[in-house]
Amino acid sequence: MTGSDLILSAKGMTKQFAGFMAVNNVDLDVRRGSIHALIGPNGAGKTTCFNLLTKFLQPTSGTISFNGRDITTLGASEIARLGMVRSFQISAVFPKLTVIENVRVALQRRRGTNFDFWRAQTVLGEFDAEAMRRVEEVGLEDFAHHTAQELSYGRKRALEIATTLALEPEMLLLDEPMAGMAQADVERISALIKSISAGRTILMVEHNLSVVADLSDTITVLARGQVLAEGGYETVSKDPRVIEAYIGV
Ligand code: ADP
Repeated sequence: MTGSDLILSAKGMTKQFAGFMAVNNVDLDVRRGSIHALIGPNGAGKTTCFNLLTKFLQPTSGTISFNGRDITTLGASEIARLGMVRSFQISAVFPKLTVIENVRVALQRRRGTNFDFWRAQTVLGEFDAEAMRRVEEVGLEDFAHHTAQELSYGRKRALEIATTLALEPEMLLLDEPMAGMAQADVERISALIKSISAGRTILMVEHNLSVVADLSDTITVLARGQVLAEGGYETVSKDPRVIEAYIGV
């Protein structure tokens, strides 16, 4: 793999909490355009890795680069401006605003203006066409004028993804996108992730292994803060160390 094939690269990423190594010397390379999953048993260090990569936490040691640029010392909002967006960063969906209004708010945020709830109706009109494109991209066009609070759980997740896409990320980090979903929604959100991955890179933490198997090009398995195995689903799912980590913990 050449340097330009990689969009995100962490080397020796380590996070210590009061002497406890939550993430211990992790190397992680994410290929541009891929869907990459981070899996592992509870306590493996997945969330801490996500927080380090998106700069919600600073690493104790190690380096992280995005598009060849060292981002180790940058903050979360700077990373988002560079094109790497974590889904919950903008997932504050306003329950009483409609689907399209919620997306317009996200577009307005991308422009850098503060959202003023009381002036919302007057300023939001500017973003109509672009907002509708994002709504269509996540398959919510029939619900464009429904309030967010009327949506099913799965459709609310699709709306969160639409508001994330409004920031035009090159790379999306999805934190357990299937958490709490019924099977029909799992299938809908899986299909959505597949479709939005065109031209984008996705890194996700996900517990649903059949979703991981179905979607991921590459899987990194963490256990006790370290990388245990990496590769396609066929490879990692047969790795005895992975089986032991899942069954033995
Ligand atoms: P996962 O997401 O894989 O379940 P986490 O990254 O949440 O794992 O946690 C990895 C380990 O680090 C766990 O043992 C957890 O208790 C510990 N940990 C996480 N955050 C903190 C913190 N802020 N302070 C102390 N320990 C932490």
